[in-house]
Amino acid sequence: MKYTCPSCRKPGVGGIAKRWSSRGAPATCEACGGLSHVLASTSNGIWATGVVIVVASLIGALGLHSFLLFFSGLVLAIACNLRAWKRAKLVPISKESVAHAKTANWFLAGIFVLFGLN
Ligand SMILES: [Zn+2]
Repeated sequence: MKYTCPSCRKPGVGGIAKRWSSRGAPATCEACGGLSHVLASTSNGIWATGVVIVVASLIGALGLHSFLLFFSGLVLAIACNLRAWKRAKLVPISKESVAHAKTANWFLAGIFVLFGLN
């Protein structure tokens, strides 16, 4: 499964590359070498939706003592996840922005370490 590259409009971005793409680690287009990623708000939203569906079906399943309900909730969550990832938009990103995002990530990691040590 290939996705359309936002830079050259050719199907050059792999499905797995798209799924794991972020500002600091974007997907590379096989056709033009352009970098692109799915917005953090989009991927966070997709994961949040999945968690909500699973938790809701788990609560329902426990209340009704129905394993089937939990199982269908799980299937629904996976189906929604796959569908949302297919529809998620790829945003082009420049090499400079990637470098900036990486620096920001290291900076954040440093802050977390500092707070962790206190
Ligand atoms: Zn491209």
